Amino acid sequence: MMMEIKRNILLNPGPSTTTDTVKLAQVVPDICPREQEFAGMMKGLREDLLKIVHADPAKYTSVLFCGSGTINIDVCINSLLPEGKKVLVVNNGAYSTRAVEICQYYGLPHIDLRFPVDRLPDLSLVEKTLREDPDIALVHTTHHETGTGILNPIREIGALAHMYGAVFTVDTTSTLAMLPIDMEESHIDFCMASAQKGLMAMTGLSFVIGNRAVIEESKHYPKRSYYCNLYLQYEFFEKTGEMHFTPPVQTIYASIQALKEYFAEGEEEKWKRHTRVFRAIHDGLDELGFRDVIRREWQSGLVVSVLYPDDVNWDFEKIHDYCYDCGFTIYPGKISTTNTFRLCALGAIDEQDIKDFFVVLKEALHTYHIQIPVPYKETMG
Ligand SMILES: *Cc1c(COP(=O)(O)O)cnc(C)c1O
Repeated sequence: MMMEIKRNILLNPGPSTTTDTVKLAQVVPDICPREQEFAGMMKGLREDLLKIVHADPAKYTSVLFCGSGTINIDVCINSLLPEGKKVLVVNNGAYSTRAVEICQYYGLPHIDLRFPVDRLPDLSLVEKTLREDPDIALVHTTHHETGTGILNPIREIGALAHMYGAVFTVDTTSTLAMLPIDMEESHIDFCMASAQKGLMAMTGLSFVIGNRAVIEESKHYPKRSYYCNLYLQYEFFEKTGEMHFTPPVQTIYASIQALKEYFAEGEEEKWKRHTRVFRAIHDGLDELGFRDVIRREWQSGLVVSVLYPDDVNWDFEKIHDYCYDCGFTIYPGKISTTNTFRLCALGAIDEQDIKDFFVVLKEALHTYHIQIPVPYKETMG
């Protein structure tokens, strides 16, 4: 089949730029997802997801949901807390704040252990909190706070959670299938992602990878949601090989193709490519004089948060629109106290795409009479 599809370079934090083969994998004969053929495909998909995080299928399983990545956070938190116990959220960004809000919506006892968004969490405070509150049964954090680009020390947080007998759930939505992850090594009981980020597939499919014994145990926990209960979805998969409710059929086809491409590229090669892209982003920003928010040694290698320059002509919307018209999508930041935009190294892109982007960005700066190198007031940075 011949089809010309315009290639846009998405520098936003997901959905990511996809290959044409992944896009076209969705164009298939119509199928009822209750057919055996479709259940067989999902079985293979679930097994492949475990391989990405080196999870032993005897101990771990993956459970699929129809929804964006936030559904995973909702599912894990509302399903994995025993009656009368407490959630500890190690929170230094917008995505962990989302987990706190989920606790609030379900009325779950929780501790919102907050740290500044541009800092790593203080592990001694995490430990103190765990030591002083034996009711904490679930520790949750975000691996990579996509809003800022900071990478959290999940291995250390996981070790602390386990030392105090808590289950450790990690939002790995913006690292899984990009930054190599090993479940056991990082003391992760549950991790999660959606198909449109690291996997470079389409929106609509999300998945939780987790410890089977803990899911089995959660059968006895309060059922707080009908649609978003982990045990119910797991049990349905175990019994029938299917999702409880209608799956995102075409996204599943795309995800299966994306997984083939993931394994063909290889975990290490893929991470090297993201790293190449990330370096090219830094090089381009440095050349134009832009400043980033997070200390470089704390950055994930996937997202750069850039401070707005102090130029009277700077207008993010105008720069965005100029780049967008040339096929490059940039994205606002997610820090309430600082004006930032983000450039991300996700997706099926490489170094040359970033070089091409910076040619366009430079043109945009010229067009709107923004000084190069971009100016910052002395007090900043
Ligand atoms: C993208 C993302 C999510 C999911 O966000 P949706 O808007 O539901 O797709 C969750 N956590 C992190 C860290 C993310 O980057």
